Order: sequence, then C-alpha cells, then structure tokens
Amino acid sequence: MEKVIGIDLGTTNSCVAIVENGTPVVIPNRGGYKTTPSMVAVTEAGKRLVGHIAKRQAITNAENTVYAAKRLIGRKWNSPQVKNAVATSSYRIVEGPHNDVRIVLRDKEFSVPEISAMVLQEMKVIAEDYLGESVSKAVVTVPAYFNDNQRQATKDAGEIAGLDVIRIINEPTAAALSYGFGRNIEKTVAVYDFGGGTFDISILEIGAHGVFKVIATAGDTFLGGEDIDARIIDWLVSGFKEEHNIDLRQDRMALQRLKDAAEKAKCELSSVRETEVNLPFIISSGRNEALHLQRTLTRQTLEELSEDLVERTVDICKQTLEDAKLGKDEIEEVVLVGGMTRMPKIQSAVQAFFEKEPNKGVHPDEVVALGAAIQGAALVDDKQEMVLLDVTPHALGIMTFGSYFEELIPQNTTVPTHRTKIFTTSRDNQTAVKILVMQGESQRAEENELLGEFILTGLRRAPKGQVEIEVTFEINADGIVSVRAKDLETGLEQSIQVTATSGLTREEIKTMMDNAKDDLVDRRTTEEFEAAKQEAEKLIGEIEKLFPQVQQIVASSDFGRDAIEKARAIVEKARAAIERRDAAAVKEQIEGLTRTHRMFKGVVAKT
Ligand code: AMP
Repeated sequence: MEKVIGIDLGTTNSCVAIVENGTPVVIPNRGGYKTTPSMVAVTEAGKRLVGHIAKRQAITNAENTVYAAKRLIGRKWNSPQVKNAVATSSYRIVEGPHNDVRIVLRDKEFSVPEISAMVLQEMKVIAEDYLGESVSKAVVTVPAYFNDNQRQATKDAGEIAGLDVIRIINEPTAAALSYGFGRNIEKTVAVYDFGGGTFDISILEIGAHGVFKVIATAGDTFLGGEDIDARIIDWLVSGFKEEHNIDLRQDRMALQRLKDAAEKAKCELSSVRETEVNLPFIISSGRNEALHLQRTLTRQTLEELSEDLVERTVDICKQTLEDAKLGKDEIEEVVLVGGMTRMPKIQSAVQAFFEKEPNKGVHPDEVVALGAAIQGAALVDDKQEMVLLDVTPHALGIMTFGSYFEELIPQNTTVPTHRTKIFTTSRDNQTAVKILVMQGESQRAEENELLGEFILTGLRRAPKGQVEIEVTFEINADGIVSVRAKDLETGLEQSIQVTATSGLTREEIKTMMDNAKDDLVDRRTTEEFEAAKQEAEKLIGEIEKLFPQVQQIVASSDFGRDAIEKARAIVEKARAAIERRDAAAVKEQIEGLTRTHRMFKGVVAKT
C-alpha cells in the first residue's frame, strides 16, 4: 500500500509522521530531532538552507532568513496582518503581482507558498531518508481558522514541493484523531491549540467505531507564541531606550538576537521563576563603545506582559462553547496542543475556564503530525474504520445588492456540504450578474474575505426581480469551495472552483515546481559534498602533519621517494576536487587518502 506521510506545517516548527504497522510514529530528522524549525535562508553564496541549519545562522544573516512564513500564506498585500509583518520582520516583504506577498532573499523574490514548499520538501526528504523510499502523498494540516485562500496556498506549497496533498485537515482535528486513535472512547473533547503563530479551539464528539465529529471551531490566525515573544521584545527595547536612548529596532541583527533571546526566556520561564536576558555587544553607542543588554525577566512580568493575549484565547473558547451550544460541564476532556501550552499561565487559564485539569497525555509538538498520518493511512486503507466529519470555520456566501453579505453556508456546518439559494436580478433588463464569493462572519460584505468572482452573462431581458438565479455552494472534504450559478429559466450555467486567489497562477506554480525540483537535487548533492569534503580535509590535515617525519624516514630509498610523490599527488587531486566542489571526485580520493594516512602512520609507528 502506498505510504502517506502526515505533515504538521507549523509557524515555528514542522513535524512529519507516518503510520507503521498500524502505529503512528514521528519521524526524526538527521539530527535526531522530532521537529524541524520552519525556517528558510539563502546564504551569501546563494545556497538555500532549511530547518536547523537555517536557524543556526539566523542572527548573522537576519535579512535573508525567513521565519513564521505561515503568518503570511494566502494573505493579501493590503491586509493589516501583512502590514504588521512588514513592520516587525527582520526579512524584507514586498508586494507581489497579484496583490499577494513576496519575500526578498538576496535580491530574489519568493512567493510565500514557495518558502513553505521548501519546508515541506525538507519534511519529505526527512521521511524519505527514514523510509528509504520516495514518498509522494501527504496529508498536511492547517489551523482550523484558515480561510479558503490560506488553505489553497498551502495546497500550492505542497504541489511546489512535489507532494500530492491528498487532504488538508485542521490541526485541532488532527490532534483529536491522535488522542482518540485506537482507544475506543466516546467523549466530547475540547482541543485547545496554541502554537507559534495561531490559536485554535475545536470541540469534537468522539463516537463509537472511530467517528470524529467536529461540532464547532474558532480561532485567531494572528495570535500565537510569536506575539508573546513580541511583548518581551517590546519590554527589552523600551528598557534599553530608557537607559541609553537608542532604538534597537533600527538594527536588524540586534532585532534577530532580541527575538531569539525573547523566545528563549519565555520557554525558560515555563520551568523557572526568573531568567536573565544577557546580550553582550548588542549595539554600538555611536561613541566607539559597545553596549550590552542585561535584564532579569520574571515569570510574573511575563504573565503581565501577555495577560491580554491569554485572555483573548479564553474569550474565543467561551464563544465556541456558545456556538456549540454546550456547557463547560459537558466537555469531558480538554486536550492541550502546541508549544505555547507548556506555559504555566496558559495551563492555569485553561483549567480555570473549563473547570477541569487539562489532559497532558499527548505530546504538544507531535500530536498534530501523528493525527495527519492517521488520516493519511485511513484515506488509502479501506480496512481502517474511521470517519472524520469536520466543519467549515467561516460562513460562506455572496455579496448582494447594497454590499450586503448573504450567507449560504453558516459557520460550523459539517463538510462536505452543499447549499442552494435563489437570487433575482436587481435592475430592469439586467443581462449579467457578478457573483462575488465571500467568506466571513460580517453582514457587511467588505469586511469579509473575497474568495473569487465570476460573471453570469446572457440573462434574458426582464423587469427587475423576475430573472431567478440559483446559486449553489459546495465545500469538499479539504474545505475548498466551488460555486455554481444558474439562470433557472434558460438553464444557462456558470461555475468556478474558488482557487484563483491563493496569490499564484497555474503557470507560476509550474515554474516554481520545476525550480524546487532543481533545488532538491542541488541541496542533496551539497550535503553529500560537504560530508565528503569534511572527511577529506581531516585526512589531508593528518597526512600533512606526518609528511616531514615520513619524508625523513623513507627519503633514502627510491621506493620511499616514489611513495611520497604518490601521496602528494593524491593530496593534490583531493584538493582540486574540493576546489571544484565535485562530490564524486572527492569521495574517490578519500579511499587513496585513507590508504596514505594508514601507510604514513605505519611508517612513523615502526620507527
Ligand atoms: P508550535 O507552533 O506548536 O510548534 O509552538 C511553538 C511555540 O511554542 C513557539 O512560540 C515556542 O516559543 C513556544 N514554546 C515551545 N516550548 C515552550 C515552552 N517550554 N514554554 C513556553 N513556550 C514554548
């Protein structure tokens, strides 16, 4: 049976899992870590770096290192969230050709799906290394509160990475799948998912025979650990300003160091009560003197700094319970997901609200990927008994005359679903109608997200209100929407799948796919080369050290001189191969270098 991997494409970290012999397991990367930073960088030499290797160089290459790209995926350039990211990111964000967002790395512009594709590709490679075979199918998770554009852009990222994303599922739903998998329980659970960039809450009923039914979901796609980090940064920056009258934000490298230190302090404060932020040589005073930043942050201060953010998550929980028409006492279990739920204040706030101790039995960083893998396996294996019924996180409808939003599918409707409504023309002799497809909760159309538009033309001429148009909305299991409009009298029909606004055209995706393939080959050989180079250089160094001694011992015989010359030639060849960055040639020379090294050591040992 074909293997399907489950990928949790996180704001801060990503994780990949698979079901092996009926058991879901997380796949560690080559460094042995179960999660990989969702970071991408381009070095001065033009090399792309992904994951830990990108994170390690983030401070010295701040401008060309992307983090938290998920916050930008599927967003429009003029959205407030993008404006905020432009102001606070250490990398450059510019306007793309389709009112979308591009990120500049070393003078080259990348779309956000392209950046996310690099992370997905890395996760694919981690899985392939582990399995020893290539993988092409994946289930990728997204925050439950992602709208259609963000989902579509995530699918595009998968395609660019060479993955067939067979299903997009919601993160809290994936967590619930993992929580309930194989346990044969019947329970109503709330999944509180607070990650690096997003907050989600879902309420599910886990029923007999593997039925997982989402009752309600809500969240905020711009509320996460990054915002808490930002509060700590603000606190550090303003303290420094008071003391030295220097704004650290002006310096990208200082900002990146602050970001790192803020996150580190935040994580430490989950286990200790106070921690020291210590950043020597953070900036120059301008008078030829380096300034240091040193401040003690207590858990209490952190809790004060982030109080309103935690409160916001609780308010969303409250609203979701109301939407689900459930009382707190009807929630039998609260499952915590996402790295931020390690913060004691968050745990106590959740406990205080739901009036019960949250379940800490699931691993907050791994549970989502495990759930995605479980869903992946169920999709290709008919024998697995599992039914997943998710809901649409936002209402769907169209804009009607007077800029009103007319809802067709309410929020929290179980998907897949379809709904039909009849509209009429708004003017006399109107021969065309424009259908603007929207997603959101506001009655005022302009406050909602525009998903796409199309025009139904060729309507028969008639007084206003007399031509009836039937509009049908359909949401498939991925949560992706299609819309059909039909003139009921003539049967004239027009439809769209709402995909156009992910920010990329088909041609662009195709080109990016080709580029990503090149990059994969490129990256793999680079790693191979670096490993070979390291080994060869180590051997050359040792041989060089032994040369004078060996020369002295063997120079008196022809045989000895010949051996020395051969050794020199091997070293020269290896050096040339390193210079040419030719991995295969370096590897070829390693054998000769090893032999020479052994021989040299033998000669020296014998004397
Ligand atoms: P996720 O998106 O689930 O990987 O969550 C990542 C977020 O969790 C980041 O903002 C991390 O800084 C945060 N995080 C990870 N570990 C801890 C911890 N021990 N205490 C507080 N926050 C943490």
